[in-house]
Amino acid sequence: VHRPHEVSDFQEDIHVVSDADGEAIGVIAIHSTALGPAAGGCRFWHYDSHAHLTADAIRLARGMSYKNAVAGLPLGGGKAVLQRPAGSFDRAALFRAFGDAVESLGGAYVTAEDVGTGVADMERVRERTRYVAGLHAEPGKSGGDPSPWTARGVFESMRAAARFALGSDLEGLTVAVQGTGNVGAALCRMLRGAGARLVIADIDRRRVDALVAELGARAVGIDEIVAAEADIFAPCALGGVLNARTIPALKARLICGAANNQLATEADGEALAARGIVYAPDYVVNAGGIINVSAEYLGEAPEEVEQRVGEIAPRLTRILEAATSDNTPPHIVADTLARRIIARGRRAAA
Ligand code: NAD
Repeated sequence: VHRPHEVSDFQEDIHVVSDADGEAIGVIAIHSTALGPAAGGCRFWHYDSHAHLTADAIRLARGMSYKNAVAGLPLGGGKAVLQRPAGSFDRAALFRAFGDAVESLGGAYVTAEDVGTGVADMERVRERTRYVAGLHAEPGKSGGDPSPWTARGVFESMRAAARFALGSDLEGLTVAVQGTGNVGAALCRMLRGAGARLVIADIDRRRVDALVAELGARAVGIDEIVAAEADIFAPCALGGVLNARTIPALKARLICGAANNQLATEADGEALAARGIVYAPDYVVNAGGIINVSAEYLGEAPEEVEQRVGEIAPRLTRILEAATSDNTPPHIVADTLARRIIARGRRAAA
């Protein structure tokens, strides 16, 4: 396998976030500000140790840099990760303290929601800093729930990738959707509208039952969805789902979904390619949400969001074409593209 790593990776900064008593409650990782302020959400999760939390923040910040660069946004990449306390805690005070930390960076980092945080938390952050997005949308302006935009980018990418990899439109194909939350459910509705058959799984049984009734989807257990008889597998739940255990079991010939960090390791991307399974790089296809958040932050019109989300599927097709012609797995083609764009931004800023 050809692995072009001619442009090195880069991590700019790590900042510790402290609460009002000076106790460390998390970190803000800034991967790159070469293209603009480092943008990426705030994850609120339980970690065994500060080292694990920091490692996750660094990995997620890099992912945001790559996602923002490839999506053509004037943004760098960063991520905040806060430790979710085990017992009871003052949630509003915690997010105000986080807001103070964001403010202290003077705009180098812009935050928004991520796993474990919501609009109400960002409203608390907004009390302390203007470097935050993901708030309620005002009429005629961009903003609000990013999930429908994420779903749309994934859906259009899947249609383009099915044509490329399977030589077929979505009509009549079977798509296995893992996770029917905000993005997964919206994606299922679009797929049904395009005539695809659906196999779904979620740990939340009510969500599954609702889509079975609404769309005639077939429900399977959460342990069966990866190996379900399907043409396409759409991970829309957690990261790390493509790994040494799951890849040999996959029946789908194409992977395209919303979840972040789907590949457990880089080698798993190569294992997919070796099995002849086409992988649509997660951060290329799931950029619709950050495109919407970015437009909110930059004060751009909803038409701008429409235009940028519409560019995702053609971009994916170019990446898949390059992967084929260069005999390089698509995730490496995408990473190389991202690093080049960031390096160009760094040179332009120098
Ligand atoms: P969500 O929390 O609304 O939905 C996730 C769903 O996955 C939930 O219904 C949950 O019950 C289910 N789930 C969890 N573990 C599961 C398992 N083992 N098997 C089956 N189902 C399981 O989240 P979302 O906003 O729909 O995001 C889905 C994924 O897409 C996440 O990985 C997220 O990071 C990523 N993503 C979301 C956006 C966005 O705009 N919301 C943007 C980019 C990436």
